[in-house]
Amino acid sequence: MKKDYYEVLGVVRNASLDEIKSAYRKLAKKYHPDIAGKSKEAEEKFKELSEAYEVLSDQKKRSQYDRFGHEGLKNVFGQGGFGWSDFTHFTDLEDILGNVFGGGIFETIFGKRSGQRASRGADLRYDLEIELIDVATGTERQIMVSRKETCQSCSGDGSEKGSGRKTCRACDGKGETIQSAGFFSLRRSCGQCGGVGTIISNPCRICRGSGAIEKKRQIIVKIPAGIEDGMRIRLVGEGDGGENGGPHGDLYVVIRVREHKLFLRDGDNLICNQPISFIQAALGSEIEVAMIDGKKVHLKIPQGTQTHTVFRLRGNGLYRLHSSHKGDMLVKVIVVTPTKITQEEKELLLKFEKLHGKEEKGIYDKLKESFGFVCV
Ligand SMILES: [Zn+2]
Ligand SMILES: [Zn+2]
Repeated sequence: MKKDYYEVLGVVRNASLDEIKSAYRKLAKKYHPDIAGKSKEAEEKFKELSEAYEVLSDQKKRSQYDRFGHEGLKNVFGQGGFGWSDFTHFTDLEDILGNVFGGGIFETIFGKRSGQRASRGADLRYDLEIELIDVATGTERQIMVSRKETCQSCSGDGSEKGSGRKTCRACDGKGETIQSAGFFSLRRSCGQCGGVGTIISNPCRICRGSGAIEKKRQIIVKIPAGIEDGMRIRLVGEGDGGENGGPHGDLYVVIRVREHKLFLRDGDNLICNQPISFIQAALGSEIEVAMIDGKKVHLKIPQGTQTHTVFRLRGNGLYRLHSSHKGDMLVKVIVVTPTKITQEEKELLLKFEKLHGKEEKGIYDKLKESFGFVCV
């Protein structure tokens, strides 16, 4: 049974951040293994305190814990529960203990020097272009992503097997150099060893001493229907590996939706232009309109339809993201005037004009009455 975090730190449930910090400060000093002795118990107690502090000092984690207890943090700390790689307050710890104990804290936790502390790996970005049809159906894509991983050959140590590290001679293993100028002395991180205090005597041949290698990996990205241009899909833990056993960063897949030749997107609606002949517009007809998925849908054009009239085909648009709601297809009909006509057609149209002119005359007269003039 895991202990209550508030009990661990000995604070009340509505304690302020300052109260939590001060409680942690006090207890961390008391149970720090350098003081309490390097026992398994002290180490466990110290880790327990740090876990409680990690949760209660973070507004989001704290509220999740308040509502759902330890259960609520499963996604935050993963299967194995809290580990030192989840701890984000090393600067606080340094602040609390570092000056007194000279960085021994990190040796206690990692068995290494402070310069080699674990850090989270970088987040990566991948731009993925998809088609509008992919937005309509949702899809999966395989992508190849190159990321930094711990070198297996040297376990991230950077030294050729067994050769280990030797004390840096420039700083005598202290990791820093002191420059004196009169009364002042200036402490500087050692440039030779990067503040670590040791240098690699025989670099690993695989990673050339860096401890990490670039590795290409195939990743499957699930793209939900209804995704929008510019949205990011976060793949937790697929980023660069951290240093010294720190956790991986995340991979952000940025979605770019290519423009479609026929369909224009407007939220979950699609818009398309549908040419019809002036005969179809005048007499009315039934036409077939192609949807984004290739399906054909019948559309009734009423008699006397004007150009640019928009008809709505319900439920033939795109899914709304993470919903079963589907938008509509808006069909804008464009009445096409014929450009080439035969002599026979011309005669028919002139005949039509003659007949139709009489019919329309009534309308012109009415307009003339109300406006006093008509533009023809
Ligand atoms: Zn050095
Ligand atoms: Zn290596």
